[in-house]
Amino acid sequence: MSSKRDYYEVLGVSRTATKEELKKQYRNLARQYHPDVNDEPDAGERFKEIGEAYEVLSDDDKRAAYDRFGHAGVGNGGYSGGFDQGFGGFADIFEEFFGTFGGAGNSRRRRRGPRRGPDLRYDLTISFEEAIFGGEREIEFRRAEMCPVCSGSGAEPGTRPITCTTCNGSGEVRRVQQSILGQFVNVTTCTTCNGTGELIPNVCRECNGRKQVERTVTKKVKIPAGVDSDTQIRLTGEGGAGLDGGPPGNLFVVLNVAQHEFFQRRGDDIVLDLQINVAQAALGDEITVPTVDGDMPLQIPGGTQSGRVFRMRGLGVPKLDRSGRGANVGRGDQLVIINVFIPKHLSADQQALFKELSRTLGKEVVPQKDKGILSQLKDALGDLFG
Ligand SMILES: [Zn+2]
Ligand SMILES: [Zn+2]
Repeated sequence: MSSKRDYYEVLGVSRTATKEELKKQYRNLARQYHPDVNDEPDAGERFKEIGEAYEVLSDDDKRAAYDRFGHAGVGNGGYSGGFDQGFGGFADIFEEFFGTFGGAGNSRRRRRGPRRGPDLRYDLTISFEEAIFGGEREIEFRRAEMCPVCSGSGAEPGTRPITCTTCNGSGEVRRVQQSILGQFVNVTTCTTCNGTGELIPNVCRECNGRKQVERTVTKKVKIPAGVDSDTQIRLTGEGGAGLDGGPPGNLFVVLNVAQHEFFQRRGDDIVLDLQINVAQAALGDEITVPTVDGDMPLQIPGGTQSGRVFRMRGLGVPKLDRSGRGANVGRGDQLVIINVFIPKHLSADQQALFKELSRTLGKEVVPQKDKGILSQLKDALGDLFG
């Protein structure tokens, strides 16, 4: 091995460089020469050299020794240990750069040119009534936004990214190669700039050169009347920010409608199970029924059997206007399924009355020719719900 290069020279800083400058420059170079992103044969060596230089110069004592005695002052040039131990910190800094921000961390090479931001998903639980009548909700979520300090350039304000000198900004390196089949041009992604075509000498302190920062934002979501679980509401352009002038992604709010205490939904209809007593069923009654529009009267005719279904028109779910023109397309119905309740415990008076009733009704039992209640109910629901 040839004699060791000067550490300041390795990092490309002056002998009076501050710790901040050292760190910044070290990060830049580490980013450039990391063997995972740099395929140059000597990248590994450079990377190690940079790490070693930074290890020494970032430590006040070692730096002082190095300044006075050169390589001899910090282990006679035979730099021993430290690097491996220091690799944890090194990896951390590397993570900062190539971390999972925006999910791009694992891509070995970044594509050049504008990149669209990622779509985001937000799961929102709304009440049964909100689903029926619609409304507005405020949601809070985190997303990547363009760094406000560097306006998405990644460079410290007042500085700008420079054109990569290796590839002259093309992001590609062309090599003419000879093969037995003749000459051909081998095009590879420029490893100096990672294919971006630019280098950032002074990395923005706010975003560390990522060009983006993560922010918590609050947005209003309009919930149209008639939505159901799994309805997706798209908020165009409210997803993650794009990179290098690319458009932002979209935000998809995926709805989940909470169960109601007693209403159930079947398509555009609302189903309600309602219990009436045996006298109401036999004699008929005007009862009050809860609907999503408030309590409404319902006429029960005398002789109503268990399982009968009453349809209350227009009190169901507004039909979702899929044309997007806000046209009134009507509402479904509320279906009331009657369950006649036979009392389990009778007072003495009631017992007397039922006994009297029993005398008038006789003791005859009749095998049913008609279908039983259960299959009637199934028929009714079958008809209604297809
Ligand atoms: Zn920035
Ligand atoms: Zn380049």
